[in-house]
Parts: sequence; C-alpha cells; structure tokens
Amino acid sequence: MADKKTFVRVWTSLDPNDIKKHLLLIDDLYGSCANCKQLGLNYLKDKECPGCKTSFKYVTTNLKGLEDVKKILNRIQELNLKLTLIEKEDYLQATAKDAVKDLFKS
Ligand SMILES: [Zn+2]
Repeated sequence: MADKKTFVRVWTSLDPNDIKKHLLLIDDLYGSCANCKQLGLNYLKDKECPGCKTSFKYVTTNLKGLEDVKKILNRIQELNLKLTLIEKEDYLQATAKDAVKDLFKS
C-alpha cells in the first residue's frame, strides 16, 4: 500500500438484510455474529461463522475512537481480508427501519 493513502468514509447503498446476514460485530479483537449471535469470533481469522456458517462480508464496531477504528482497518488491510467496515449507527438505523416495516406487514 502506498503510504500516501488514508482512510475515508464512503457512502454506499446496501441491503440491510444482506448486512445483517453477513455481519460480524467486533469490540477489540473478538466479536459476535449478527446473524446467530455466536460469540468469541475473531474477525482476522474467522471467515465464516462456526455457528450458522454464514460468510462475513461486513464488520462493525462499538469502538468510537478514530484510532481504534483505524487499527481495525489497518489489520483488515494488512491481512487483505474481504471485509467492509460499516458504521454501527448506520447499521442500527437501517435495521430499525426494517423492523418497522415488518411491523406494518403483519
Ligand atoms: Zn452465526
């Protein structure tokens, strides 16, 4: 990676159901599967959930510090992992909207 590169946040359009199905929620190194709530997953090693076998495409974190977030991004990049970091707030908002829709469906 060229050292001139830096991390920027990009807005993109994603399917909330797809995010939920392939999301790993991480704290520091360990996290849990958003699909089946399996705990103790390592986002650097676990490419799929040992519980529900879903493959992880997205990660999100409770960590708010920019340095913490960059540490995660650097690790993902160093290991060349196919993971996209998404904003926790955005994820919560997207899935909350979904829950409301489900409410009206029934
Ligand atoms: Zn799972």
